[in-house]
Amino acid sequence: MRNFSLKNTIWKNPGHELDEIAQHVTDREKKIILIGRAEEIQEFLKSNDCIEIYGVSPTNEWKNEKIKVVDLQEVFQSAQEYIFVCVSHERNEYESIKGQITRFHPKFCENENFFQGEVFRSIWYVYEKNEIKIDRIEIFLTPCCTLNCEKCIAFIPYFKDREPTTLDMLKRDADLLFAKVDYIYKLKLLGGEGFLYPYLVEYIDYLYCCYGEKIGSVRIGTNGTVFPSKAILECCKRHDIIIDISDYTAAVPERCKLSEMVELFKGEGIKYDIKRVGEQWLDMGFPNEIPEEKNQEQLLTHFQKCAMFCRDFYDGKLFFCCSNFAAVRTGLFPENENDYLDFTQEFSKKELLEYELGYSKLGHTTFCRMCFGCSEEANSRHVEVAKQM
Ligand code: SF4
Ligand code: SF4
Repeated sequence: MRNFSLKNTIWKNPGHELDEIAQHVTDREKKIILIGRAEEIQEFLKSNDCIEIYGVSPTNEWKNEKIKVVDLQEVFQSAQEYIFVCVSHERNEYESIKGQITRFHPKFCENENFFQGEVFRSIWYVYEKNEIKIDRIEIFLTPCCTLNCEKCIAFIPYFKDREPTTLDMLKRDADLLFAKVDYIYKLKLLGGEGFLYPYLVEYIDYLYCCYGEKIGSVRIGTNGTVFPSKAILECCKRHDIIIDISDYTAAVPERCKLSEMVELFKGEGIKYDIKRVGEQWLDMGFPNEIPEEKNQEQLLTHFQKCAMFCRDFYDGKLFFCCSNFAAVRTGLFPENENDYLDFTQEFSKKELLEYELGYSKLGHTTFCRMCFGCSEEANSRHVEVAKQM
């Protein structure tokens, strides 16, 4: 999840940082109105059916007649009766809707009567149901890859140790993770190249056998140069796995097998998504270039602008930032206990929620001083996709 609405993420009172905000989130006197694009509102309704929604205000055409569309001008007349939740995943859309709302009603206050959807949902589940639901976690399978991309976000070309993660460690990690987390919407299995992991089938079977009811979807990341084995295809069908194929056609046309792969998945009835069509990458800098030194305040601002969306679970530790994890795993950046939550230790669901929203001792990761950031808001250094070294 990208948290771009809660700021000041320095831990002062772990387990109680969100108590005040949670009082607003769980205020049963208030009626909840969802704002955003129709598709995103539908997605929110589908995956959060125990949150009672009063009405919606879609920014495009709305087809669901069961939920009423409210006239914002009208509800603003008695705005204190409502909570407005913006379900947009895009920061600029969120900021634009926030701007419109505060212009209408200058007394509107972020995290009091106006919320970012994912933040609202995660607080609601912990404080109302004592359930911690995490948006996305990556699992690192192997540093082996068929490509050697200079600006790889996982720093694959710079790994010293090329050993895949052992199956025993992955199983132990799954046991530790699901002992404390109630639900993960997206579990992404990555390398390196996901299809090169030798124990992929055994690992996925283990996940579904033991924790299937706690997982929204499992996705495997591939760079589109390696065909999966028959056993992997059967496993994907068995568990309804989604394959995320990176489109590197422009960068490595002679290696890329995107269209053949799409035909294969269509023929087998396997779900897939094609990623990075027409995109550019952001150059994080590491390990060759280090940003200018920042003071503590600047680092906090950098961290908040970056709003890193994905966590990484490895060796019993939930790293807040997957690039931070990758830098540690290359052996070129030191591990620091500020940057992960140790799942072999005791902590409450409220502390885990705070951590998921960015809280830590420093309020940012120690790697933030080495890194230009992974979002447009933090980093304007665009580079071409998958340029080979
Ligand atoms: S294909 Fe993906 S994992 Fe492999 S080096 Fe390129 S960006 Fe990194
Ligand atoms: S280390 Fe880089 S990518 Fe990670 S949170 Fe900090 S600025 Fe963002």
